[in-house]
Amino acid sequence: MKKLTQILALAVLTFGFSALHAEKVVAGPKGGRILEKTEPKAEFFVEKDKTVTVTFYDAAMKPIAAADQNVTIVADSKEGKEKIQLEKKGDVLVSKTPLPNVENGNVVVQFKQNAEAKPQNLRFKVNTSTCGECKRAEYACTCDE
Ligand SMILES: [Zn+2]
Repeated sequence: MKKLTQILALAVLTFGFSALHAEKVVAGPKGGRILEKTEPKAEFFVEKDKTVTVTFYDAAMKPIAAADQNVTIVADSKEGKEKIQLEKKGDVLVSKTPLPNVENGNVVVQFKQNAEAKPQNLRFKVNTSTCGECKRAEYACTCDE
């Protein structure tokens, strides 16, 4: 019985942590969203023309040049799924094409640290309207709710 209680406690702890982790958005210096588990930190930012820029930062949040990272966005819109490959432009990665009409739609950011790395998939909604509280775009909103 004691063992079961411990397992349950661990499950609650693990679940609690991951739920918290999923909700908490780390604010990027440009006003975008820091992608989870990226090292160096990668900021996902939607430009006014709806193209995406990914900027990298060191531990002190100073911008650093992109290295071998590989980023692909799979955008889910009414028209279907669209794959957008990002390419290196100077120090950052930019999307060749703007995001399709994905207001409130899901994107999956496929992030590879380098050619050999296992890709990680980060799924979130790209809502570019401004949050009334933190004045950041909703996809990069840092409010608790
Ligand atoms: Zn907010």
